[in-house]
Amino acid sequence: MISTANLDSNSTAPILPGATIGVLGSGQLGRMFAIAARELGYRIHIYSPDNDSPAGQIGDVEFSHRYDDLERLREFARGVRVVTFEFENVPAASTSAVAEWVPVRPDGRVLHITQNRLREKSFLADNGFPVTPFRRVKSWEDLSEAMRDIGLPGVLKTADFGYDGKGQVKLTEADPGRAALETFQGADAIYEGFVDFAKEISVVGARTFRGDFKAFPVFENTHSRHILDVTFAPAAIGEVLAREATELAAQILEKLNVVGLLTVEMFVTRDGRLLVNELAPRTHNSGHLTIDACVTSQFEQQVRAVCGLPLGSAELKQPAAMANLLGDLWGSGEPDWAAALEDPFVKLHLYGKSEPRVGRKMGHLTAVGQTVEEAAERVRAARDRLS
Ligand code: AMP
Repeated sequence: MISTANLDSNSTAPILPGATIGVLGSGQLGRMFAIAARELGYRIHIYSPDNDSPAGQIGDVEFSHRYDDLERLREFARGVRVVTFEFENVPAASTSAVAEWVPVRPDGRVLHITQNRLREKSFLADNGFPVTPFRRVKSWEDLSEAMRDIGLPGVLKTADFGYDGKGQVKLTEADPGRAALETFQGADAIYEGFVDFAKEISVVGARTFRGDFKAFPVFENTHSRHILDVTFAPAAIGEVLAREATELAAQILEKLNVVGLLTVEMFVTRDGRLLVNELAPRTHNSGHLTIDACVTSQFEQQVRAVCGLPLGSAELKQPAAMANLLGDLWGSGEPDWAAALEDPFVKLHLYGKSEPRVGRKMGHLTAVGQTVEEAAERVRAARDRLS
């Protein structure tokens, strides 16, 4: 039987509340997206290999199948009007199978570029966007040459499937590079110049198929063990640089013809330049504070962008800070949630994950304040009270 869903797969008419949205991936980004979509009156189908997942707990239907099971994916696609994702490392063949039936937003090309650090950095460099020097590395000879040309220190990263600092190693001398490369077991890698940055920032931008663009205020990010720790907004970088970062993001979304959300992670160098580090074709951990601090959350904005609705204001209502809650916090039992919430300007978000593993993102806290410093202090103090 032919579903009616595929008849309008190229249509640019808005997909209105009441329709069903499909999500590839089922983690916390999908969960918060599903909550926002439900608030707007949409139905949600979730697809991932997992069961009782953070997003699946919120969705109307949870498909628990492998990403390479194309028949199941087609079945999933036939039941929805549009598909977006919260996890970008889905095989290209899978998004193609879905795209036979419904629009995938952002589309397979954006996914293909942003799934791989080499393709991503090459796209950025080829289009004149600022990046740290980099080289493709397949062998020890390539790496030696790259280290000679670019210099040390540098960072060796796997080209595929990297996140939260996984699959990357900082090299300050040439020799350990050989052993590091061996751990990649022949996978494509990239060597890039180490950036002695002053700050790390991110811009979450949204774009519709009409080309309308809106960005959230620039977020400033601090990491711990390569995992995002605390984000605050607005970033303390001055208006000129903030405008430049937002403009850069707008140009990247435009060049990629993104329909949906795309996050641009950037370094601010010590001499005040911006370098793009990474792109994520979706909502971002640094954007979680938008739920409590912006007129429209990043998740609602993703719903609006992929459904072709007008974008909401991305304005920050108040300075805010977000602190991640990792599984480590469960070291000596369940954290003391009530203690964190003693401050009435602190909000708790938990992702419905039953197994608190070390380094696993279990939830986050957001605090607002009169100033960024106050918000950051509040959120850190609240997190400290948990254990
Ligand atoms: P990534 O997985 O590329 O986002 O890297 C994770 C984190 O590692 C970044 O947020 C930075 O803190 C650090 N990092 C990555 N690449 C570089 C680089 N070229 N120079 C300095 N720090 C880096």
